[in-house]
Amino acid sequence: MRQTGNIGDLRRWVSEARSSGQSIGLVTTMGYLHDGHLRLIESARAENSYVVCSIYVNPTQFGPSEDLDHYPRDLDRDKRLAEEHGVDLLFVPSTETMYPGGPEAQQIWIDPGHLAEHLCGAARPGHFRGVATVVAKLFHMVQPDRAYFGQKDAQQAIIIERLVADLVFPLEIRVIPTVREEDGLAISSRNVYLSHEQRSQATALIHALHRARQLIEAGEQHPPVIEREMNSLIRDEAPDARVDYVTVADHRRLQPTTDKLPDDALIALAVYFGSTRLIDNMVVRRADGRLEFQ
Ligand code: AMP
Repeated sequence: MRQTGNIGDLRRWVSEARSSGQSIGLVTTMGYLHDGHLRLIESARAENSYVVCSIYVNPTQFGPSEDLDHYPRDLDRDKRLAEEHGVDLLFVPSTETMYPGGPEAQQIWIDPGHLAEHLCGAARPGHFRGVATVVAKLFHMVQPDRAYFGQKDAQQAIIIERLVADLVFPLEIRVIPTVREEDGLAISSRNVYLSHEQRSQATALIHALHRARQLIEAGEQHPPVIEREMNSLIRDEAPDARVDYVTVADHRRLQPTTDKLPDDALIALAVYFGSTRLIDNMVVRRADGRLEFQ
């Protein structure tokens, strides 16, 4: 495995691979790799002959009171895991490389518009602008054939798909199902912040999604009822949790709805345990009168 923080090296090695006929897969991460990231890398490995993984904790997607300075990091372990899982090139740029002169010097940003208004975008103003901008830079630097994102960050995945479609990036986005712990908690770098008690209460997120599924299978169609039941389950199972949102939305437009369950619905939630924010979601599709849950 090669490693660099330099755009010149990155471009040279990727273009060598491309000119020898290899296809390029990209996995973008903030490091502290876990089984969710590794599943993305494995998917990239299976569909491409050359795999690039980036590790960069992007300051412009963190709000002023968020955990940028404390975000967990372990580059030696990340290198070992990336190599073991078949990454060909690990790109670990500095902030000077990603934002010459610092983020304050950047003039042009990618604005995800209405897609960033609700769900996580409401509590994290500017977050998806930072994500879309840094991902666009990484796409230009690597020029992959395919890039891999996790369904755990459902709003991010939709925004990146629209970024690629609307700005005509010549690559394909693959969205990979959420990887979970045995008890159903979505794996996240932030799970390490949870106390023992918070960790045991955190299964309330997946239980709330299971509850939504039961209700929908039993014929429930009203988003406010589904949301109310999910909130009430979280109150019962996780007394230490503070719900940020529990929302039924149109999956593609990321717009909350109160009328009727959309045919392609995203049921998403975000919950705080202390200052740790956990998210999870489920997609519900209706096609030919049949329901599909993802
Ligand atoms: P992060 O390092 O948190 O920015 O995540 C990098 C990529 O890994 C993003 O596309 C995430 O959606 C994806 N990811 C993070 N956790 C999981 C998970 N539990 N299952 C699947 N993908 C994940």
